[in-house]
Amino acid sequence: MIIVPTLRAGATDIGARVPSVRILKDKVIAIFGMGAIGAPVAIELARNGCSHLTVIDHDIVEPGNSIRWPLGATAWGMRKTTAVKHHVESEYPSVEVEEIHHAVGMAAAADGNGGDHSVLPPIFAKADVVINATASSGISRLLADHCTSAGKPMISLFGTLSLKGGVVAAYQPKSGCPTCREFAYDKGLIQKAPGSGEISALNQPAGCAELTFTGASFDLHELSLDAVRLTGDILSQPADFKESLVHTLTLHDGIKRVPPSCRVDGLPPMKECGCQP
Ligand SMILES: [Zn+2]
Repeated sequence: MIIVPTLRAGATDIGARVPSVRILKDKVIAIFGMGAIGAPVAIELARNGCSHLTVIDHDIVEPGNSIRWPLGATAWGMRKTTAVKHHVESEYPSVEVEEIHHAVGMAAAADGNGGDHSVLPPIFAKADVVINATASSGISRLLADHCTSAGKPMISLFGTLSLKGGVVAAYQPKSGCPTCREFAYDKGLIQKAPGSGEISALNQPAGCAELTFTGASFDLHELSLDAVRLTGDILSQPADFKESLVHTLTLHDGIKRVPPSCRVDGLPPMKECGCQP
């Protein structure tokens, strides 16, 4: 009877123990994609005291994808959103997780939800920061449009298929967008992440209809942790993050794995894109 209140008091004390994450208390963070990079982001934000997480995905946990997922056999067969909610709310009782089982990009109603037009606006209205861990450039652009309309920052992260590197980009509503990032690559203003464009790292497990990504969870965690760090910094010092920026991570030099390193580039709006007036 005494243990539970003691634990709850400990959970609310997190800002005193780690001042750099105090800002996460009372913040709402929406995370699209509960896969191998999104689920670790959700759990790390919960551990550090983010009081409300909205998690959006349509997939379920299978034995085959557990090797890159933070929870193992206890989560098999569960919706990824449900597994994260159960884990976070039982381990970090001061955190509330809202799970939304939805496939972004669906115009029509599915799974008992409405389409994007009814599911997405309330998420953006409520979130202080949106994190896009879907690793889809189409969805990235769609979510960035919603963020711009709602005036919210979006952090988007993905690894290259060979996982020689990856990108963690922070898009601000009045600065460069995901399409601006493509123009910045074309103009040579920003260098692409190592392994960009390679498809040789894909393989096809028996029984799987599609080629699948072969990166390891410990390399993907580098991207997840960078996104969590950036989320805390943007929330703590918004005045320092008016311009979009791109973190380009290197994990492999083409011959062997190397200690992770990160290059930071500003991403102003590109006039070719026309996303800003
Ligand atoms: Zn743009």
